[in-house]
Amino acid sequence: MSTLDWELQQELAQIRSEGLHRALHCIDSPQGPRIEMEGRSLENFSSNDYLGLASHPAVKEAAIRAVERFGAGSGASRLVCGSLRPHHDLEDALAAFKNTQAALAFSSGYATAVGTICALVSRGDTIILDKLVHASIVDAARLSGAAIRVIPHNNLAALERLLTSVTRSRTAPRSPGGDSPNTSGRRQRILIVIESVYSMDGDLAPLREIIELKERFGAWLMVDEAHGTGVLGEGGRGLADLLRVSDRIEIQMGTLGKALGSAGGYVCGTSSLIEFLINRARSFIFSTAPAPAAAAAATAALGLLQSAEGPRRLSSLRALIRQTTLALNKETTGEAAPGASAIVPILLGDETRAVAFSDTLRRCGFFVPAIRYPTVSRGRARLRLTLTAAHDPRVLALLLETLQQLQAGRWEASQ
Ligand SMILES: *Cc1c(COP(=O)(O)O)cnc(C)c1O
Repeated sequence: MSTLDWELQQELAQIRSEGLHRALHCIDSPQGPRIEMEGRSLENFSSNDYLGLASHPAVKEAAIRAVERFGAGSGASRLVCGSLRPHHDLEDALAAFKNTQAALAFSSGYATAVGTICALVSRGDTIILDKLVHASIVDAARLSGAAIRVIPHNNLAALERLLTSVTRSRTAPRSPGGDSPNTSGRRQRILIVIESVYSMDGDLAPLREIIELKERFGAWLMVDEAHGTGVLGEGGRGLADLLRVSDRIEIQMGTLGKALGSAGGYVCGTSSLIEFLINRARSFIFSTAPAPAAAAAATAALGLLQSAEGPRRLSSLRALIRQTTLALNKETTGEAAPGASAIVPILLGDETRAVAFSDTLRRCGFFVPAIRYPTVSRGRARLRLTLTAAHDPRVLALLLETLQQLQAGRWEASQ
């Protein structure tokens, strides 16, 4: 055996012993409320396809038409000869939907975070992250070379303290002209990166308060609406739109792979931001343009959201969210339903226990994945239940009943 295989098997054994081993499950059906997994039909409560658009006839039709007209692949990067009509249509639709000057499409949300953050900050700058931001943002921050500071989740007091200390050194007397220069000679930048809806907890950022802080201290704000777009606010325009603060956020990003039912990522912002990213975002420049079908599908999803069907789907989703939070006795703020996310975590703590719960549910016909380290901290394992507009409230009621019995210990979650 090669040393590679031997060493990797040692590590895999360790991963298994910690209850952290993962494996792929082959799905033989489209995304939907019911999936075929390894010969079984399961009620699917794990998809981020929040509006059920991934298999929507109009979205599929748009993808098929794009394949027929533009082919399967884009053939080159956007800056060479891969900038196809469907990409431009998508970017126009995104900017209009988010009410920004411009938008830029990337091949994934992950590539969006990496390309954008690394283009905007570098050594000598500071990037401030919420403790629970997505791995793509953490990786981007590390790659950027900027100094990384992490605040406890949604902690405004900690953010204010950090901004106070970072800006104090920014205007230190060693540069009499004002701001101290970074390695490239320009003003030191401070970029705060948060999510509007946190992907594993489903809670919202105190966006308005964070905006007030970043404005007071002269920092920039990037908001990842991966789980907010298509879910929150009027017509699913996201939290920034719901709170009417869109024009006070420097960088809005998100994915096309969740509520928009396709694949890819985007940034929305000013024309200068987009022009700059076209010139500087390496994951945009050095990567083949997204498949035309994916771009066209996302554009069709944005169109659906703005048709009569959008509000209908959103209100089905919101009714399911209400049904779930009521049954699980989660805090219901009584606030307008447009501010509730489609992610419902059921915290169990222990990794092995979470996996046992998930296995038991699967035997009952429900797919609700256990989320463990490294996706969440050790000892914070959970079931992550996601709702989509395509779910049947009666099936959801059955799942909630089963969950309550499991939690009450009436059923031994078997390993
Ligand atoms: C899913 C997700 C991403 C990554 O988007 P992909 O298009 O799946 O690469 C980025 N940020 C957050 C918060 C996400 O949940």
